Amino acid sequence: MDHVVLNLSERHEDSEGTVKYLWALEDNRKIETVYFSHHAGPGQCLSTQTGCTVGCVFCATALQRPARNLTADEIVLQAELVDEDFRSRGIEMPWRFVTLSGMGEPMLNYDNVVEAARRLYEWTGIEVVSATTSGIVPRIYQLAEESTYIQLHVSLHATQDETRKQLIPISRKWSIAEVLEAATYFARTQGRRVIVNYLLFEGINDSDDDARRLIDLLDPELFEVHFLLWNEIEGFDFRRISDRRVAEFNQMLEPTGLMAKPMPSKGRDIQAGCGQLLAERPRPARSRVRG
Ligand code: SF4
Repeated sequence: MDHVVLNLSERHEDSEGTVKYLWALEDNRKIETVYFSHHAGPGQCLSTQTGCTVGCVFCATALQRPARNLTADEIVLQAELVDEDFRSRGIEMPWRFVTLSGMGEPMLNYDNVVEAARRLYEWTGIEVVSATTSGIVPRIYQLAEESTYIQLHVSLHATQDETRKQLIPISRKWSIAEVLEAATYFARTQGRRVIVNYLLFEGINDSDDDARRLIDLLDPELFEVHFLLWNEIEGFDFRRISDRRVAEFNQMLEPTGLMAKPMPSKGRDIQAGCGQLLAERPRPARSRVRG
């Protein structure tokens, strides 16, 4: 690894043991990395860009621009420094997962992400490293052809194109059908299911019709669904959906054989949850689509 700078600026830990690291890079750009533990065990969520140009309207990282690509070294070093932090506290962490789903759209930093995934795979011995994309179709096809290290997550978040375009502006380029066609190709070529992330918003994408459309869209042999709950961000007007509605939505999928589960929110109190990462302050007040 060439000389790479990642200086620790802040470290925040919540009562459950989730830790958020704020790093300053050599050019003074800032990124965040999160350690958390869930059903699979302890893992890390690494950033791949210094912000994000995809512009998802529910995500704080979209406010941080311009977004430059992190080098493979900068991506891998996040994991190594988190590991070092734990070891300095007398904890040898048996990493169970690494996900390239922090700040940034990994498929817009394709070469560095694939290289970093290869190195992380070799370093940790973890079976697969996962990455979440908002649906960059050409890169999904490319990844299907060449990487066996990456478990693909696709953020769908809607069952109709009009709704999806409002939530994920870059999805104006590719329809839901095109994204799922690419994901189907990935699942078949790589021989593993693609995880579909579905962030539930009350009154936007949580109707019974949405559940039925989701069932029609996703082949249980090729896809698995993770339901996510929105984590609060200051200045954003979405509301977090109730656990009851998430359970109801999930239950509608159960008889179909489509594997689906709600994912726990981690690190909300320290702004370390999905969609909450924003490393460069001040955090601007911003009024967003109301949920
Ligand atoms: S959710 Fe992901 S792709 Fe969308 S703006 Fe945030 S970091 Fe970018």
